Amino acid sequence: MNFQLTPEQEQFRQSVRRFAEKSLAAGARARAHSAEYPWDVSKLMAKQGLLGITVAEADGGQGGTLMDAVIAIEAVAEFCPRSADVVQAGNFGAIRVLAEYGSASQKKKYLSRLLSGEGVISVGMTEPDAGSAVTDLKTTATAAEGGYRVQGSKVFTTHSAYADLILAYVRFGPGVGGIGSVLVEKKDVKRGKASTFMSGEEWAEIHFDNVFVPEDRVVLKEGGFKKQMAGFNVERIGNTARSLALGRYAYEKARQWAMQRRQFGRLLCEFQGLQWKFAEMKMKLDAGQLLLYRAAANADRGLPSPEETAIAKAFCNQAGFDVASEALQVMGGMGYSQEELVEYCMRRCRGWMIAGGSIEILKNRIAEAIFERSFSQRDRASS
Ligand SMILES: Cc1cc2nc3c(=O)[nH]c(=O)nc-3n(C[C@H](O)[C@H](O)[C@H](O)COP(=O)(O)OP(=O)(O)OC[C@H]3O[C@@H](n4cnc5c(N)ncnc54)[C@H](O)[C@@H]3O)c2cc1C
Repeated sequence: MNFQLTPEQEQFRQSVRRFAEKSLAAGARARAHSAEYPWDVSKLMAKQGLLGITVAEADGGQGGTLMDAVIAIEAVAEFCPRSADVVQAGNFGAIRVLAEYGSASQKKKYLSRLLSGEGVISVGMTEPDAGSAVTDLKTTATAAEGGYRVQGSKVFTTHSAYADLILAYVRFGPGVGGIGSVLVEKKDVKRGKASTFMSGEEWAEIHFDNVFVPEDRVVLKEGGFKKQMAGFNVERIGNTARSLALGRYAYEKARQWAMQRRQFGRLLCEFQGLQWKFAEMKMKLDAGQLLLYRAAANADRGLPSPEETAIAKAFCNQAGFDVASEALQVMGGMGYSQEELVEYCMRRCRGWMIAGGSIEILKNRIAEAIFERSFSQRDRASS
């Protein structure tokens, strides 16, 4: 066993760090406080080869590994936390499902624009009555001549304000086996009233009002739910990596602060009460790092195991938030102020404890692995 990155991975990390320091660091604060998608960053990243890292070269990607994509998130977030979302969108999200399961014609039509950094794709799973219980989704795809009519609504969809395309989870028939997914273009989507998450990101309820989706925009037909979740575990690794990376960003700011800020005539780092906070933060970051790297490095053909992903995500979501919150505390009023990005990191990390499989739902998944059986969460009386 070796806990070091390979020389190639280390070289890649250094090259992404140099890029991020030179091109992203200066605008980090403005980006974090803007609800806009950072298109400038996404185009720069496309040129730099940071979109489609794990997508096959034949499909226009870089043919790299999930570990490479994780390294890219970490190196970017070190200088610009908000830009790590662009690495996520271009590598870990619905784009990965499209690259894995999409047809040749779907990839030809949509993937090149996404990889150029000029477009982004959202995943629409969650509905008003289907959150954690995602298999309760009600959006239907009903057969029509040449394709399907899609009817339903999605909530909390990241990037939905500007996404070109939505990978919508739909129901072709009853039960889990009836779930699949289709690509819905922006022009076919109606948006409800815009709202804002605590992180500053915008979301709006989106409606598919009897939208016609031609047959060639079906990504996974009925029976595709398991594959979709396999692809979604990659998204979870991206959320895991960002949680930890933003926790680390906040920790590093607080560490620097504690080495120069004086109170009672002493540096903050000389107070044992604060040293112990730093020791706790460091232990959480290091433990999370090992769990994240285990899940990413063991990923078979780029698709990580559900159990290792659940353990890494649940731990790192909590660790990232706890560390960012403690870092804020150590920095006092300055930590709480928007002068620094520590409060942003804390707000952003909070969301990942809910998004992409909440910590509680992940713990349910871990329990199933522990006891080697499934536990239905459903009310027996009504099921
Ligand atoms: C920042 C952010 C971004 C998001 N982006 C997207 C996106 O791009 N696409 C998309 O489709 N969705 C997205 N979501 C939605 C997200 O997937 C859901 O919010 C999440 O699945 C939880 O669903 P819910 O909000 O309806 O909460 P509920 O399912 O109502 O759960 C409420 C609480 O109860 C807990 N709970 C529920 N069931 C159980 C159980 N069986 N055991 C123990 N605890 C339980 C949950 O963990 C949670 O704490 C996003 C959410 C956030 C916050």
